[in-house]
Amino acid sequence: MSVPATVAELVRDFKANGRIVIIGASLAGLRAAEALRDEGFSGPLTIIGDEPYEPYERPPLSKQVLKGWVPADHTKLPRLREVDADWRLGVAATGLDRMTRNVHLATGEQVPYDRLLIATGTRARQWPNPAEAALDGVYTLRSRDDAARLQQALAARPSRVLIIGAGFIGSEMASVCRELDIPVTVVERGSAPLVGALGGVIGEIAAQMQRDHGVDLRCGVGVSSLDGDAGGHVRRAQLSDDTTIEADVVVTSLGSIRNVEWLEGSGLASGFWGVGCDAGGRAFDINGVVTDSVYVAGDVARSPHVLYEYQFLAMEHWDNAVLGAEVVAHNMVNLEPDYRPHLLLPGFWSGQFGVNIKSVGVPTFGDEIVFMQGSVKERRFAAAYGRRGRIVAAVTFDHGRWLEHYAQLIEQSGPFPPPPPGWDRPDDMKPIPAEFPAPGVPTAIPDVVLTGHDPSERRAEFRPR
Ligand SMILES: Cc1cc2nc3c(=O)[nH]c(=O)nc-3n(C[C@H](O)[C@H](O)[C@H](O)COP(=O)(O)OP(=O)(O)OC[C@H]3O[C@@H](n4cnc5c(N)ncnc54)[C@H](O)[C@@H]3O)c2cc1C
Repeated sequence: MSVPATVAELVRDFKANGRIVIIGASLAGLRAAEALRDEGFSGPLTIIGDEPYEPYERPPLSKQVLKGWVPADHTKLPRLREVDADWRLGVAATGLDRMTRNVHLATGEQVPYDRLLIATGTRARQWPNPAEAALDGVYTLRSRDDAARLQQALAARPSRVLIIGAGFIGSEMASVCRELDIPVTVVERGSAPLVGALGGVIGEIAAQMQRDHGVDLRCGVGVSSLDGDAGGHVRRAQLSDDTTIEADVVVTSLGSIRNVEWLEGSGLASGFWGVGCDAGGRAFDINGVVTDSVYVAGDVARSPHVLYEYQFLAMEHWDNAVLGAEVVAHNMVNLEPDYRPHLLLPGFWSGQFGVNIKSVGVPTFGDEIVFMQGSVKERRFAAAYGRRGRIVAAVTFDHGRWLEHYAQLIEQSGPFPPPPPGWDRPDDMKPIPAEFPAPGVPTAIPDVVLTGHDPSERRAEFRPR
């Protein structure tokens, strides 16, 4: 390559000849690849993924796939455009050498890059006792193969399903079981389902919703052990309150682990909550220095957010993967004055027990909640979360059309309680404590987490019981 004369030439040259490598061939990886080509990047593009499949959607896995409506292998992500790339599927990246700019693969090969995108997402946390986790009938849900196996187990009509952990995915699975008329017990260490993500007030509503649909819900208890029969099939669970549950399918829904182990020794700020990066997706090293050639997007990224005191925000949400990937792709092939920030207001949806739950903002940043519209009794309402007189998040149950209204208020740092919109107001509109579990109280880890100001935060700890 000859030395480019001007900055514009530098960009043109990189777009034509630079080598970009993406690790992680899923939602963020695919959308970044498409966006890179949209940005005019025509150089060599390599996409490396350890799953053998082309990128697929995960949200339907805990919904339509488990119900048996959609086969697990019909979840392929739609392509937004043709992507000319060297796809290396079924092979894991095992190391990163930033000095020589090479990615090491499990095959022993090295793949050189000029710019690298880390999009390795998360994986399901396994049951902590390996012998119990290996029993037939014990499942987790993260991948297409997991969903296919679990769907088959549900189709065989087990006598009872036990779900350990009542976060969003655990609760969605419980809902599917009830729709299929399969008896289900949900065990949650926290005081209610969804309590880690939405607090105790909403958690109580979710708990009642589960019980009304026939879920045997046990909160404030843990599963101490899983017992199998002589054939190695799970048959019962012992609970911390000395009770026993007979079940022939157990699904552990214990949250996720960021896929960062392969970055060990790379000097990047990677840890429990993912890889620290700036709001433009450039990875930090362990000293808090931003890198020029390594970028991060999707579930594995954590970046500071202006609306939340510049704390690093870790998000396991579909929108975050898509929009983060687009921003990062733009920044990878443009120069500093044109950089864009990824300052998405977190948003989430979940379908369970016939109700569409949506949230916007970071509920856990709030300490109070106020019901703004609708009726809790009818389970169609909008509620806002506040902190120090400012609205920071909102949640809706079957009231999603109002979410945009609350999103705008949050983005403008609007007052809390916010001015009541329109009609359909609940009788009681007094703010009350949102009842998030105190730090250290065991419960499901929320999908949106404010992880402090340290780019290489490593303090987090997981206690399985
Ligand atoms: C069952 C389920 C239901 C969900 N429902 C919703 C929902 O209703 N709403 C919502 O907003 N979000 C939902 N999500 C979350 C959403 O799917 C994720 O936010 C999204 O998949 C993140 O995309 P990603 O590309 O960052 O990570 P991932 O989808 O996790 O992809 C990362 C990819 O990288 C691969 N990889 C990891 N390590 C390596 C390595 N060393 N080398 C090569 N490849 C590697 C992984 O195997 C994976 O294929 C759900 C997730 C699950 C599992």
